[in-house]
Amino acid sequence: MLGPSRDAKPVSVLNHASPSTIVSNAAATPRPSACPGLLRIVAARDGGLCRIKLPGGELSAAQARALADACARHAAGAIELTNRANLQVRGVKPGDEAALIAALVAAGLGPRPSSGAAKAPDTPAAIAADDVRNVMISPAAGRDPSALFDTRPLCADLLSMLQSETRFAALSPKFALLLDGGERLARVDHPHDVWLAASQEPDGVRFVFGLAGCPPASACAGSPTQYDDTGSPDLAAKPGAHSTAALAAVLPSQVPALVRALLFTFLELAPADATRMRHLLAGHCADALLHHAQRYVHFPLTRDASLAHWRRAAPADASLRLGVHPQRGPGASHVGGQPTLGRLDAGALRALAALSQQHGNGTLRFTPWQSVLLPDIATHAVPAVLSGLTTLGLATDPAQAITRLIACAGSSGCAKSLADTKADALRLAARLPDGVDVHLSGCSRSCATAHCAPYTLLAAAPGLYDLYRRDGRPGFGQCVARQLTIDQAADMFERLARSNTDA
Ligand code: SF4
Repeated sequence: MLGPSRDAKPVSVLNHASPSTIVSNAAATPRPSACPGLLRIVAARDGGLCRIKLPGGELSAAQARALADACARHAAGAIELTNRANLQVRGVKPGDEAALIAALVAAGLGPRPSSGAAKAPDTPAAIAADDVRNVMISPAAGRDPSALFDTRPLCADLLSMLQSETRFAALSPKFALLLDGGERLARVDHPHDVWLAASQEPDGVRFVFGLAGCPPASACAGSPTQYDDTGSPDLAAKPGAHSTAALAAVLPSQVPALVRALLFTFLELAPADATRMRHLLAGHCADALLHHAQRYVHFPLTRDASLAHWRRAAPADASLRLGVHPQRGPGASHVGGQPTLGRLDAGALRALAALSQQHGNGTLRFTPWQSVLLPDIATHAVPAVLSGLTTLGLATDPAQAITRLIACAGSSGCAKSLADTKADALRLAARLPDGVDVHLSGCSRSCATAHCAPYTLLAAAPGLYDLYRRDGRPGFGQCVARQLTIDQAADMFERLARSNTDA
């Protein structure tokens, strides 16, 4: 998750008394959290921070315009794309929080109306309903030619269930689900509390599932090549860092009941201080969790030993997020671009909405690589859309160095940061060699990414960083140099790239 939340304090206008009058079940009491949400704006160094969770990463052109207008009126900062395909508004002006929230809710953002959010958007129940909307699908769901299953309707069912079940208010706002339809454009290296992945079986598609990690990819089965965030061979990778073994498989129609059973199991067995599935697994084996979950479903729920070596069939290729790629069916493509270090201004968001409306299907799909896709672009309109993205300053080619850099908010937005990571990342972009992916983090919380990047520059002081290389160990990997300036880091990356080429 993105980080300013970690040091943020909830804005007082949104602090609430006990939620007991709203939520009758004691288990439904929302966990206290400093995470930003649409209904819980938190303070950061550059103003209020408001996170907007997008169902399936999708935003309509009308919503994009409403969001841009609200930002222009009530915020002074950027619109940030997050690593969970959500958006966040930075620099919300003091005193404008309620007006911003009202504008966003009126645009249909936030929890669905039947959860109570539209009538009373600042109630604990509405905040809890917003918090739990964490289901990730491919930004190319329903379009990717390799997909085994269109996950969008199932995603909508899961979101509806998460928002309507009051007991889920007790889940951490970080608790997250992955629903993988088998697309090539898919973020499957990002650990989730529950993952489900489509698998083609002789009698149809099943959803294989596992806990506290990612679906194992075919490259983990012994292939010598791992792929990095751009789809290039990753020379710093250790295979399967976050993958967890498949436990069993269910029919697509059984997925909502399975997820509900697993979440009830988590809530009933996890100690009060456990917020993630990995914490529960530290004290219970997966078989015990399945045994407990069985009481909530009418289909058998035991480990399927035949899936112990199951692997995701299609290799994921993150480079498909950029540029033009054909969709399933003739005559249409999705076109993608990446704003510099994941930030847009209101004018750029409005222009993206106009491009989508003029040439696409009137929607934008945000990706977990902090980029955006415009789906359903007819072949004749592709040049105009590519040109439009470039004019707006978005990178559309994975060869552009800026697409291989991520940086947290840094000292301009976060009091915890020891360096101006955004500005330093821009300086590094001018010298970053091909094939090198770098994450700049202002502190060890690593808000900009949930997975370990091939290389991490961890701020030690303004303009100085310790360099880590991913090697499979927890955290950022092995520290290979300390107190580097950006120029020294660039020298080192050039040497590393040369030695990899020479090898
Ligand atoms: S410095 Fe960066 S990583 Fe650390 S809390 Fe702030 S935004 Fe997150």
